Amino acid sequence: MRLRICHLYGNLLNTYGDNGNLLMLQYCAREKGVDFETEIISLDQPFDPEKYDLVFFGGGQDYEQYIVSKDIQDKAEGIKEYIENDGVVLAICGGYQLLGHYYMDASGNKISGISALDHYTLSQDNNRFIGDITIRSEEFNETYEGFENHNGRTFLGENMRPLGKVEKGMGNNGEDKTEGARYKNVFCSYFHGPLLVRNIHLANRIVDMAIAQHNKKIEK
Ligand code: GLN
Repeated sequence: MRLRICHLYGNLLNTYGDNGNLLMLQYCAREKGVDFETEIISLDQPFDPEKYDLVFFGGGQDYEQYIVSKDIQDKAEGIKEYIENDGVVLAICGGYQLLGHYYMDASGNKISGISALDHYTLSQDNNRFIGDITIRSEEFNETYEGFENHNGRTFLGENMRPLGKVEKGMGNNGEDKTEGARYKNVFCSYFHGPLLVRNIHLANRIVDMAIAQHNKKIEK
């Protein structure tokens, strides 16, 4: 079996070592005897909702996020279709923000997301949430450790649940003790570090979900 991975805007949103998540997914897949093929889909390239078993969307600086926010509107339909059809997504920080309604950047500009998920992100003045973070997932009964570094403060809508409850650190907004987001087979988080390198149980779960989606497509 060969999993097909889409690395969305991998040449633009790739700071903070987020690409380590792909190495971790590859490692877990290979441990299960599964091959792994990654393709970067970036500016002016179409996104095919049928093609992938997993989409990875990393974080980045405001400047790159602005460029991506313009281009991603052309891919919005396909990405939404992929998500609604139970496609597996891992989105970190800037990628997480762009899947929501909008993101207010550090200079006060409103950067449009694609509203694939029901959340929005405000900015904070002269401050970033930086530091170690620990959250607890009630859904999976697991604890995740990581490092956060973001200006944005994200607020989840009614149909969204957090990836976990903050035990230490700031999380989505420093107020409501939520961190990240879950919707269908989508996982979002502010964790860098990268997220999956420090949380192998989550990496294995995401690979298992991608394998299940792959098999579902073959059965069709
Ligand atoms: N530029 C965004 C913010 O500061 C995202 C940063 C990131 O991806 N770490 O919130």
